[in-house]
Amino acid sequence: MALHIVDTCISCGACESVCPVGAISQGDEFYVIDPDVCVECEGYFDEPQCAAVCPTDSCVK
Ligand code: SF4
Ligand code: SF4
Repeated sequence: MALHIVDTCISCGACESVCPVGAISQGDEFYVIDPDVCVECEGYFDEPQCAAVCPTDSCVK
């Protein structure tokens, strides 16, 4: 259970700062989500925060 980031990411960094569990970091080409850390924001928010703030809709299930 994790979201992932696709190659339309523009590396703006917005998602990294809103993730409640620190699952997001800058990768080699664009930002990445650690699938072992992402909890889909369950227990923290009603919806995945990375997807909510991403300007390019690059955080997907
Ligand atoms: S869905 Fe939530 S926990 Fe998972 S990477 Fe996005 S902000 Fe972090
Ligand atoms: S918010 Fe979207 S565009 Fe910005 S770094 Fe995260 S995935 Fe990439």
